[in-house]
Amino acid sequence: MAVEKTRAIILRVVEFSETSCIVTLFTEDFGKVGALAKGGRRPKGPFEGAIDLLALVRIVLLRKSSDTLDLLTEAKLDRRFRAAQRELARLYAGYYVAELLSELTEPGDPHRELFRAADATLAALDSSHSVPEAVFLFELTALLEAGHLPSLEQCVVCGRMVESEKRVAFGMTAGGVLCEECRPGRRGVVSVSRAVIEAMRNGSEWVMGDQQNRDYTQFLLQPALQGELRAVMNNYFAHLVGHRLKMSDYLGALPPN
Ligand SMILES: [Zn+2]
Repeated sequence: MAVEKTRAIILRVVEFSETSCIVTLFTEDFGKVGALAKGGRRPKGPFEGAIDLLALVRIVLLRKSSDTLDLLTEAKLDRRFRAAQRELARLYAGYYVAELLSELTEPGDPHRELFRAADATLAALDSSHSVPEAVFLFELTALLEAGHLPSLEQCVVCGRMVESEKRVAFGMTAGGVLCEECRPGRRGVVSVSRAVIEAMRNGSEWVMGDQQNRDYTQFLLQPALQGELRAVMNNYFAHLVGHRLKMSDYLGALPPN
């Protein structure tokens, strides 16, 4: 058994007994981890209320062998996710961040950039930052880290540049734009406006750029594009993970700001 210290975002809390719970954590150093928190449900227990959904915590873990849960022995609160008290759209977006982390990463597979992006996104959602941009940039970071950023300029099948037309064929299963020759006969192809493809390309460049000096206020989405963009992203993630993400429908109802 190894004792490890790291930072973590709490993705899920499930009751285990009257006083204990099982938490799913996205940790900075070990990726997704499931751990038993003894006394975690007692308000005055050893964790002093730090076990809270989407909270950023500093933890001590007793790492067990592969087929048993780790033991969470300490959790100190760095930041609680308070958005729920202000606006439902921010809460839903926070849940969506947790869902993406759960669905797109494997247990014990660390993704430090994704951890930092999740931390920054939750902080942005908890501020007055615009929700659609924060969600979109986090989605693209998650896709980049998982190796599924779609091809947006070159045909995903043959590599030819897909020239500027008003609408572009986008292969959900193929993972990007398709040229006219590669499009026929493919399944899961949707027609996407050039403007939305451009927004996705700009966002992709943004997440591939300088990760240290990010200013979330510098990226803006045109409100008129947001409905179509959400539909495309929801559809793409559904193809990627094999089912529609639970929070997708709630994001559709997000106001433009
Ligand atoms: Zn092609």
